Amino acid sequence: MQRYLWQQAEGLRHAYDTTIAGNHPIRGGHEFTALCGQTVTPQAGDLVEGAWLDPECETCLRQLVVASNWSEGEIERLFAIRAAVEAEQQEKRQGMVS
Ligand SMILES: [Zn+2]
Repeated sequence: MQRYLWQQAEGLRHAYDTTIAGNHPIRGGHEFTALCGQTVTPQAGDLVEGAWLDPECETCLRQLVVASNWSEGEIERLFAIRAAVEAEQQEKRQGMVS
């Protein structure tokens, strides 16, 4: 099993360390500690595969790539790409309303 997994909870997709006691397996209504430091509680609807529509927690993503030994350059590129995609989506949303 992978050490780090993603789980949607409380409006964001968080990553968590499965080796931390109490984190794994994830159960609805039971809290876990995410890599960003937040303690969050997934509900039954968060456990449905394919229904993860909430955005990723940026802090968890950053912690995860650092823990996965990504280089500074790779991490910078990842967040530059994400920022560019976000800007493009923002433009599209604005284009729709005007
Ligand atoms: Zn998080």
